[in-house]
Amino acid sequence: TPVPTFDLVIAGASGDLALRKLFPALAHRVAEGVIPRDSRVIGLVRSHDPGDGLMRTVEARLQEEGLSRAQAEAFMPHLEFVRTDVTNPESMTALNERLGPPDRVRAFYLATPPQLFAPASRALAGAGLLDGEARLILEKPLGKDLASAKAINEAVAEVLPERRTYRIDHYLGKETVQNLLVLRFANTLFERSWSQRDIDHVQITVAETVGLEKRADYYDGVGALRDMVQNHVLQLLCLFAIEPPNTLDADAVRDEKVRVLRALRPIHGADVLQRTVRGQYVRGSSNGQAVPGYAEELGRASGTETFAALRCDLDTWRWAGVPIYLRTGKRMGARYSEIAVTFKSVPHSIFGGDRRDGLAPNRLVIRLQPNDGVQMHLMMKVPGSGRLQLVPRTLDLRYDTAFNERTPDAYERLLTDVIRGDQTLFMRRDEVETAWGFVDPIIGGWRDYYATPHRYPAGTAGPSQAVGLIERDGRSWSEPELRG
Ligand code: NAP
Repeated sequence: TPVPTFDLVIAGASGDLALRKLFPALAHRVAEGVIPRDSRVIGLVRSHDPGDGLMRTVEARLQEEGLSRAQAEAFMPHLEFVRTDVTNPESMTALNERLGPPDRVRAFYLATPPQLFAPASRALAGAGLLDGEARLILEKPLGKDLASAKAINEAVAEVLPERRTYRIDHYLGKETVQNLLVLRFANTLFERSWSQRDIDHVQITVAETVGLEKRADYYDGVGALRDMVQNHVLQLLCLFAIEPPNTLDADAVRDEKVRVLRALRPIHGADVLQRTVRGQYVRGSSNGQAVPGYAEELGRASGTETFAALRCDLDTWRWAGVPIYLRTGKRMGARYSEIAVTFKSVPHSIFGGDRRDGLAPNRLVIRLQPNDGVQMHLMMKVPGSGRLQLVPRTLDLRYDTAFNERTPDAYERLLTDVIRGDQTLFMRRDEVETAWGFVDPIIGGWRDYYATPHRYPAGTAGPSQAVGLIERDGRSWSEPELRG
């Protein structure tokens, strides 16, 4: 479907997200010719001067983010800035004057801290700006626990129906994440073995090499479980595990995702000692450079985890007995995100009684980054006429070699989906709340039984207790094969 003419209003337009992700995404779309000529992007600023200086900053940032000078210049006529207090309906007059006729698509993107979501949506509604078919886009984090998420959702629901509310989890806009549905449901090969019948266990890893960066104000007291697991990692788990939806219709897909979240076996109280690991990095090295520990970066001691590992179980017919191990952390040894599926071992080896141990189980790795693509690990015979020798080898399908296309950033897809009115890749209210419903008791268990995270040196795979978490079950973490 073509993108209709729109007015996209971005609150928080001078922020990091807007400059690094949103404007570049829109500029790429302009360069591709999918943005109608008189569509407008109106950035709201509170403490910045909305004048030429800011316009020049944006133009320079677009080029730093990989757009050519001509592409950056082509985007600029779409953009303007207005100084507005987005929490104050009276301050909306200036914005109202800039908006085009109400028959064009209107979308309001709150790229601001979540405390603003409720007051800003009330203010927008109070000024009549959410009338008609206007859409509201909410960035993560959607609260910090179930109660605050509900409060935000409630406040938004008072002024806007769910079908016009778009909650971003940008992982859903990633090509590889969408490809997960294609891999499963456009190929018969995998779907037949996608269950406890053939799969032994699953590992989902989102590993970062960066530390706290400039996010101290936000991150401390939040931590890896809330920042990564509640949203991105659980979204990956959902798409991995869902039953086939009847169609790609937004609610058909989201109904199935909610079913997965509801099937997660709760982890609470002292369970956290058996089924979770918390970690915090201490001084170590990253890419050969000595780096400080989390507390040193922060300037004080802290009980916030920068690493979390969980053993999850889905209580369903399909997934009974298949543990799904989740792992995410900062300052880990390598930056990568992947879903690694380990299949069951062959039931009997014809290659001699002692050979079964030498047969590595098949593994399917869906890599989100870097080198996004799909790898299948198979057993092969070493060529030669001597003794029969078996080794694991990899079928490797990489997107950059399989397709000659630029991989668009997640926000490119998501922003145009909002304008087109497609909610498939956005989180529905019940999804967000069910995910918090799973995470909240873990946070409670940590508070009561596991207040101090285990330490791990920066540049490693996390605390040794994380190895124990999976080895207790007779399994081990699969470390990635990262090739250039
Ligand atoms: P940021 O750089 O701190 O920018 C926040 C923006 O919000 C600023 O432009 C600021 O405007 C505006 N703002 C703050 N308080 C405001 C208020 N009371 N009224 C009006 N505007 C206000 O933050 P960011 O990194 O862009 O992130 C924005 C949101 O997205 C946060 O919730 C963050 O957690 C989330 N997020 C960010 C990223 C990322 O990569 N940066 C990724 C995922 C999610 P002024 O400067 O004009 O005051």
